[in-house]
Amino acid sequence: MDLYNIPEQSIDYAALVSRKEGLTERTPGHPARVAIVGAGAAGLVAAFELIRVGIQPVIYEASGRIGGRLYSYRFPGDSNAIAELGAMRFPPTAATLNHYLKKFDLDTQTFPDPLVVPTILYVNSERYICRNEAELPRPLQRVSKKWAKLVDQIIIEKQKKILDKESLRDFWQEQVDRYADVTFYQALRDDGWNSEEINLFGSLGLGTGGFDSIYNLSFLEILRIVNCRWERNQKLIKGGAEQLAARLWNTRRECRRFKITSVRELNQDRWRQEVRSIVLDQNRVCVTDRSGYTDRFDAAILTCAFPAIEAGIDIDPGIFSPDVMQAIRRAHYIRSSKVFVRTRKAFWKQEPHFPLCAITDEITRGTYFFNFEDSESGVICLSYTWEDSSQKFLAVSPEQQVNICLKTLDRVIGSDLIRSQVEEIVTISWEQTPHYHGAFRLAYPGQYRDQVILSRQNQAADPAWNRGVYLAGDSVSFCGGWLEGALQTGIQAAVCAVHRCLNLAGA
Ligand SMILES: Cc1cc2nc3c(=O)[nH]c(=O)nc-3n(C[C@H](O)[C@H](O)[C@H](O)COP(=O)(O)OP(=O)(O)OC[C@H]3O[C@@H](n4cnc5c(N)ncnc54)[C@H](O)[C@@H]3O)c2cc1C
Repeated sequence: MDLYNIPEQSIDYAALVSRKEGLTERTPGHPARVAIVGAGAAGLVAAFELIRVGIQPVIYEASGRIGGRLYSYRFPGDSNAIAELGAMRFPPTAATLNHYLKKFDLDTQTFPDPLVVPTILYVNSERYICRNEAELPRPLQRVSKKWAKLVDQIIIEKQKKILDKESLRDFWQEQVDRYADVTFYQALRDDGWNSEEINLFGSLGLGTGGFDSIYNLSFLEILRIVNCRWERNQKLIKGGAEQLAARLWNTRRECRRFKITSVRELNQDRWRQEVRSIVLDQNRVCVTDRSGYTDRFDAAILTCAFPAIEAGIDIDPGIFSPDVMQAIRRAHYIRSSKVFVRTRKAFWKQEPHFPLCAITDEITRGTYFFNFEDSESGVICLSYTWEDSSQKFLAVSPEQQVNICLKTLDRVIGSDLIRSQVEEIVTISWEQTPHYHGAFRLAYPGQYRDQVILSRQNQAADPAWNRGVYLAGDSVSFCGGWLEGALQTGIQAAVCAVHRCLNLAGA
């Protein structure tokens, strides 16, 4: 029993994909093919595991690259200087992710989270430099202790008493009953926090930065992350997170039907174009791409963000139940922006006490300085924002975004260290990016039932609605915004597709 797995998820996916026989012992009696819509982590992991059991995955991808929200932008002036525009920090307790990192020999290094590295906290125009919890300014220490006490009471202390799967299920159900319909903000209020404490915690937060942008989300979303210990000890992937997608695409492996091959070879080195429609024809799933070409498959795995499905793909009404369609339409996607620069030198490398992280209530919110071993250049994420904080960047050009951040950081850091060093810039607002329309899904109070419905679709749990098209991706998991959820649901959808192919072969 993995105490730190997503609590609604009892399957050990790392163990499942490590089995000698892969996802199944049998191979379909016909040359089975599955359409994979979206070449992000969920789609590619599904494809990687399908080839092992002798099923051909055919990849469709709307953008010009694979990886999706694993997006490691290499600055043209120095390709070893990387800006992680999507996922950038990964917890060691994410077991499925760690299985693949190990399999593909991908190394990690410490992520410069607040208080893991010397950190500037800048709130109400006051600057504090802290290396650890003990150095936090007194009001923030008080709030930090309050938060620790709250999560201790709800999660940490109770976790110690969990001995088996049943008590784990009961423990989590208690949290669902109590918190699924309560906002993060209300949970703090109910715990006796006053406005000043809530505002301070909202501005600066702990672990990953300020939380006020997500105060109106379901508190259960936050508790789940605490339960999984995903905010602790986070790592970045050396050489870029996108390498995981590249390895899933390129790595050759032994397969029953194809001998030795890779997802890439089976797709003749290139993915097909954007999908425009998915319809059923008797027992087959018909997928039409942007060129108008239609192909027929035994099953399909659909991994795109829900707004991209709604805006871009005509789905045959017979494919998903009305409940699933409503859950897709109602899903809330977080807005998120990042502003990066490459500097001539990583000037902070020379100074051991240089603050590598700055958290503020000003427009930049979270700033991170990166140390890459194989690059002279420096990379700084000047600003990482969510929701309303992200929206502030939408109406301005990338150059203006950088200027606004640099002006703010002059105040936050206390001197103009960065401007003269800037060589290149890159920015992203996920809500404006075609094929995504948002960064990741997190639930509002009242949306827990939708999460259950989507998770059941991913598991083909309702036989009456098993039409051979399976949703996957972090939006379908109980942990939107985390790669672990994308990988788990990708593998789960592959399991469903395998069963479907076996059944069709028997039919
Ligand atoms: C800003 C940000 C920060 C994040 N931070 C972290 C983090 O620190 N740690 C962590 O673990 N996770 C993080 N995540 C989440 C992580 O990136 C995702 O969980 C994961 O990459 C999602 O993979 P996916 O395959 O589910 O979806 P995606 O990566 O979105 O893949 C879906 C693919 O579908 C394609 N597509 C869309 N429409 C079509 C169509 N019509 N036809 C064909 N293809 C289509 C898209 O182009 C895309 O490539 C972050 C995400 C964002 C955006």
